[in-house]
Amino acid sequence: MTVTTFQTLASINPATGETVGEVPVTPAEDIPKIVAKAKAAQKEWARLSFDERIAMMAVGGKVLVDKAEELGRLLTAEMGKPLAEGTGEVKGCGMSVEPDAREVAEALAPEKREDKYTKTTQYFDPFGVCAAITPWNFPIAMPHSLVIPALTAGNAVILKPSEETPLIAQAFVDALNEGLPEGVLQIVHGADEQGKALVNSDVDLIAFTGSRETGKKILSAASDGLKRVVLELGGKDPMIVLDDADMEKAARFAAMNSFRNAGQVCVSTERIYVDQSVAEKFQNAMIEVAKTLKVGNGADEGVRVGPMISRRQKDHVLRQVDAARKAGAQVVYGENPDGEGNFVQPTILSGVNHDMEIMREETFGPVACIQTFSSDDEAVELANDTPFGLGAAVFGGDEERASQVARRLEAGMIGVNKGCGGASGSPWVGAKQSGYGYHSSTEGHRQFAQVRVVSLPKPRD
Ligand code: NAD
Repeated sequence: MTVTTFQTLASINPATGETVGEVPVTPAEDIPKIVAKAKAAQKEWARLSFDERIAMMAVGGKVLVDKAEELGRLLTAEMGKPLAEGTGEVKGCGMSVEPDAREVAEALAPEKREDKYTKTTQYFDPFGVCAAITPWNFPIAMPHSLVIPALTAGNAVILKPSEETPLIAQAFVDALNEGLPEGVLQIVHGADEQGKALVNSDVDLIAFTGSRETGKKILSAASDGLKRVVLELGGKDPMIVLDDADMEKAARFAAMNSFRNAGQVCVSTERIYVDQSVAEKFQNAMIEVAKTLKVGNGADEGVRVGPMISRRQKDHVLRQVDAARKAGAQVVYGENPDGEGNFVQPTILSGVNHDMEIMREETFGPVACIQTFSSDDEAVELANDTPFGLGAAVFGGDEERASQVARRLEAGMIGVNKGCGGASGSPWVGAKQSGYGYHSSTEGHRQFAQVRVVSLPKPRD
């Protein structure tokens, strides 16, 4: 949770309510000057080779790895997730700066082709200045996933991190700036006012990760200058449990994927559709896993589920649960008496239906909703009954049948007997209203670059 005063943004520990630190808010009227500085710096940056750019970025990667313990503590204090996950996020990002940048460079290598009359080279050039606007739930991994490809492509970047997690974002930028030339990577602190000003400024590309609502506003604002946009948005991920699924495995996945990061994950499992013949067994197994997850301050030993990022987020989650209960859902696990603090216990609901908001709008909390089905067709219909389409999972003993169900789901990434992430080199992609453009993979990396085609005539015989 953050509190904005006139000129500073205070970052508040969501587990304790204590102030972790503060940063100066960037006055919105300064943003054009920041963009002009980025434009000037970008020219020289774009002239460097991929190897030169990667070597400079790798310096920051090493700083992140060296400081992983210290920055992991900062991340947990600011955002709430368990310390091991906070430290792992910092270290993982640091270690992957160089390999990620190399993968991007490979995707952006010029391609040659020719036919009888023409020799063509297809280039992947930088756009110019990229605005990267990010959320708080993976407060270093989300900036990393936009900043590294944008920089590797030869763009200058202006990062506008979430107002909830400014300190760890500042630390990420400071680490990278130990190796980068002045002005190539800058940071803007603030909330929607600064985000809007950046979107409306003279940037060339807007790479955004965040909610569907904000994504729509950005797409609309960017239309004015026909700016390029890449939007990674929210989800309402379904999981289908077929009657022949390994129930222990399915229940473990369901619990971990619903409650990890206190459910504050874009690809959290939020809707579970279980074959009615195995629903009781599945539900009981899921409750057993939920019982093992200790809730508390992420800095404390043994805690697996930290707080919600803010009181506002907690209220949103509990309001959805309460409304579902009043409409007839049963809370089969999870007590959430009114109280201080931002904690929400892992909660499992059954008897839900699609008239309830909790089955339609993103919850973004540690809540799993179970609805039963009586045929594969019904399961697919329910899973697809949403404007979202980020991730999905299907669990079943017969892989062929489960894969056929998976192919019918209108999501960008679908896991069969696993989470939705693909093998390395796969895109991170949302379907329907969960995304507009995407990143990772050869095609994803290329969204940070302008394609240009230069052709020469071939000599006639
Ligand atoms: P959010 O949309 O509220 O904010 C995201 C960022 O946008 C913040 O930096 C915010 O200050 C900025 N912003 C707000 N209004 C703006 C505007 N009008 N113009 C420009 N910028 C603006 O999202 P959040 O609460 O920070 O993050 C949670 C959301 O992010 C969830 O919906 C989650 O599913 C989504 N998310 C998606 C992915 C993905 O890969 N698809 C990954 C992580 C999170």
